[in-house]
Amino acid sequence: MDALVERLYRWQRFLLPLRCLLCGAAGAKGIDLCADCAADLPRNHSCCARCALPLAIPAALCGECQRHAPPWDGAWAPFRYGWPLDRLESRYKFGADLAAGRVLSTLWQRESCPVALAQCLLTVPLHRRRLRQRGYNQALELARPLARALGLPFRHDVLQRTRSTEAQTELDAISRRRNVRGAFALRHGIELPAHVAILDDVMTTGATLAECARVLKRGGVQRVDVWALARAPSPSGG
Ligand SMILES: [Zn+2]
Ligand SMILES: [Zn+2]
Repeated sequence: MDALVERLYRWQRFLLPLRCLLCGAAGAKGIDLCADCAADLPRNHSCCARCALPLAIPAALCGECQRHAPPWDGAWAPFRYGWPLDRLESRYKFGADLAAGRVLSTLWQRESCPVALAQCLLTVPLHRRRLRQRGYNQALELARPLARALGLPFRHDVLQRTRSTEAQTELDAISRRRNVRGAFALRHGIELPAHVAILDDVMTTGATLAECARVLKRGGVQRVDVWALARAPSPSGG
């Protein structure tokens, strides 16, 4: 978000009281979300250590990671994708509701990273056409303030989409993998540190992040972690 929008936002914040975006009650802890709605957000405490898949009973690895290790090394997804977080996310992603994005961004910044902190944070790029349609990259707007809060360098120009892909939402796990295969490339002449993290807003099957992790590893990155605000509870949904 540019400096003018940021300044206008601060003024608005100064003039208007905090209001819960979900129920309209008074906001709490400096965000537009009340304490009750914040308490309803599904946390992802019990999850696979490798892919952050929510697990009903604590276990080190989920069945899928036991069968095939994913191409990334560690994962961080502080929330599960479910009510009422899904309402905030869809307002942010599909309704251009930047206030909802700001709440999600602040919530994430208040979490602590369970894996060793990467040396640089990257985002999954949107294809130019999708970026034009939406007007913003929802992952980038979450990543920038998070990187700032963690004191991490942030790069949005490392990966590029080499082709447009279908929206993953309607596809099953196998189709999702096929849909994103070969869809990303490293930009030429980019120097990367040994350990990077790549961020997306929501991780469903992890197909998109897996494809990005493969590209980064082929480019010489030793350790790639995947970060998502929320992880979908079962590998059915990218
Ligand atoms: Zn509320
Ligand atoms: Zn797993």
